Amino acid sequence: MIVILNHKTKKEDVSHLVGEFEQMGLRVNLSEGENTTILGLIGDTSKLDIDVLSGFPFVESVKRVSEPYKSANRKMHPEDTIVNAGGVKIGGENFCVIAGPCSVETEEQIIEVAQDVKNSGANMLRGGAFKPRTSPYSFQGLEGEGIRLLLEAKKATGLPIVTEIMNLNYLDFFADVDLIQVGARNMQNFDLLKELGHSDKPILLKRGLANTIEEWLMSAEYIMAGGNKNVILCERGIRTFETCMRNTLDISAVPMLKKLTHLPVIVDPSHAAGLSWMVPPLARTAVASGADGLMVEVHNNPAKAWSDGAQSLNPAQFDELMTDIKRRAEFESRPIAANK
Ligand code: PEP
Ligand code: MN
Repeated sequence: MIVILNHKTKKEDVSHLVGEFEQMGLRVNLSEGENTTILGLIGDTSKLDIDVLSGFPFVESVKRVSEPYKSANRKMHPEDTIVNAGGVKIGGENFCVIAGPCSVETEEQIIEVAQDVKNSGANMLRGGAFKPRTSPYSFQGLEGEGIRLLLEAKKATGLPIVTEIMNLNYLDFFADVDLIQVGARNMQNFDLLKELGHSDKPILLKRGLANTIEEWLMSAEYIMAGGNKNVILCERGIRTFETCMRNTLDISAVPMLKKLTHLPVIVDPSHAAGLSWMVPPLARTAVASGADGLMVEVHNNPAKAWSDGAQSLNPAQFDELMTDIKRRAEFESRPIAANK
């Protein structure tokens, strides 16, 4: 970190500041020019608050030269992290596919979709039980009953399950869930992230609707700082000026994340597009971008879905997509692991 001091700073103020940084365990490289004095801070500056430092009377500006996230940083951990979610390895050698409806609706619906996506080669089943809906009048999810039905579908198919947590009060419902999703709207719910940091469950952290990659990695850092290193990132589209699609898939986030972090990265083309016909081309792009997997919404009758029908594939469309994706993943030497 570089701290630039006002040229009127007195010698004793400079020495005082240098002493303070040294007491924090940092080494200080002092460079005094004619018009400015620059302090180069060497060591772990992740706990220094730029806003606090910038408020010091003789500090003109502060610049970070290293990233503020440590545990998630690839520089600290060059090898790819492989997260084991209910026996499915995400990251590393294999490409993984999570599929299922936006919401769990009935026992018949979730079991039928689970069987269909399993037959097409999906590795995990998704389904929302606690739903973050824009309108309070829309279907809010079956809550605890939804998780019970997901567990029935897991029993029937053997597919591990992924579902979203919205509130810590319901954490107990997630005891048998294989991968806990933190949705876009909760990416910066820091209390939730801190508590999940104390859990040993793998966490699927979706990107916030209007969050930068650095903010997203800092949210991963919240979970990891509590001891839980099993974090998977999911790019699901961001808000831009474009209105033709529900969101804009930021595919460039994938190679950027692969460079910045060792955590697995998956892509959700369904929430990015909001349009089912656009899901296959975006899914293909995700494979080519180097993502570790996909999360796709699939419904047995999209026209009648209780949420997100317009972006859901039907089982036949999903099957066709999987045939294509399998071929592409094999070509990239990251085959989709076969179901047990
Ligand atoms: C979802 O996965 O069903 C969901 C609500 O996603 P997001 O948080 O990305 O909007
Ligand atoms: Mn959805």
